[in-house]
Amino acid sequence: MRARAEIDLAALRANVRALRARAAGAQLMAVVKSDAYGHGAVRCARAALDAGATWLGTATPEEALALRAAGFDGPLMCWLWTPGGPWREAIEAGIDVSVSGMWALREVVEAARSAGQVARVQLKADTGLGRNGCQPADWPELVRHALEADEVRVTGLWSHFACADEPGHPSIDVQLGVFRDLVDYAEKAGAEPEVRHIANSPATLTLPGTHFDLVRTGIAMYGVSPSPELGTPADFGLRPVMTLAASVALVKRVPEGHGVSYGHHYVTARETTLGLIPVGYADGIPRHASGTGPVLVGGKWRRVAGRVAMDQFVVDLGGDTVEPGDEAVLFGPGDRGEPTAEDWAQAAGTIAYEIVTRIGSRVPRVYV
Ligand code: PLP
Repeated sequence: MRARAEIDLAALRANVRALRARAAGAQLMAVVKSDAYGHGAVRCARAALDAGATWLGTATPEEALALRAAGFDGPLMCWLWTPGGPWREAIEAGIDVSVSGMWALREVVEAARSAGQVARVQLKADTGLGRNGCQPADWPELVRHALEADEVRVTGLWSHFACADEPGHPSIDVQLGVFRDLVDYAEKAGAEPEVRHIANSPATLTLPGTHFDLVRTGIAMYGVSPSPELGTPADFGLRPVMTLAASVALVKRVPEGHGVSYGHHYVTARETTLGLIPVGYADGIPRHASGTGPVLVGGKWRRVAGRVAMDQFVVDLGGDTVEPGDEAVLFGPGDRGEPTAEDWAQAAGTIAYEIVTRIGSRVPRVYV
């Protein structure tokens, strides 16, 4: 096989159990947006629910509807709406829809009316992330209209952290205080939410006072640390779920002074052996990791020699014996000596979230 992303569902289940233990007393929403961060939404959703997750969460309504079509009929929420979105389909499918402002509430009410159903609505507050969510100043109006609408049942009150992955960041307590006040306001106004939630993975792992009724975990469930500053996955009892491996496609001897890959940014310092690794930026291998990305081949770490191309890159094997068909492991849990997604993130100047979510659809997921 040219390349494969092995997905260790037992590791995912164990991670969910570890996260549930950390957030004892709160429910766990398995965040399976973006095809479960590249791991495969349907398989991961099933595994997470088996391990005790009680909710599924996606960004887009289309992702949520696809899960319903795949037979997931339990609590399910999606939060990234645009005007004219498939509100009616979501309401009919019993999906909790997130509302951050009056335009969205109006569309929900209209869609619920035409469906003849009551919409399950989770009101989202911007407590300081400065992204999606209702500004605190506009919260009273949104809450009032949501509570007055017969077509709406307010099932959740929620928000999202900006800096939960930066230990001690002052915005964490500020957001928490604002969230408590906004929840308090809505409840005094008559809201009886089933769930109140603000915690993502870093908050679930390190900020127990943020768990409320439910934690929304994405990256930690896939066994990846939200940030090297917080610790390694092992520090939290988590195991990486994805291993990305490829078969060495070609091995050849080249002389000293041989330019390698586009732009000749790598030139061999002596006669050496080059190995061709048949994955490239179209498979999600970051081009920014040209010259730096690590790969385990023939028992040693090698670095990408020269540029990552669309479908392939090269490693310098020196004098080592490697055969075509030998395994090249780009990242995995790390316990066989292979690099991790965090190592690739560092090599590419990005975050490990980006490494796993970008592995392209051309790379088959193999469930183990
Ligand atoms: N909640 C929301 C609204 C999100 O957008 C995300 C992901 O970005 C998450 C939860 C999960 O975050 P994490 O992967 O850090 O657990």
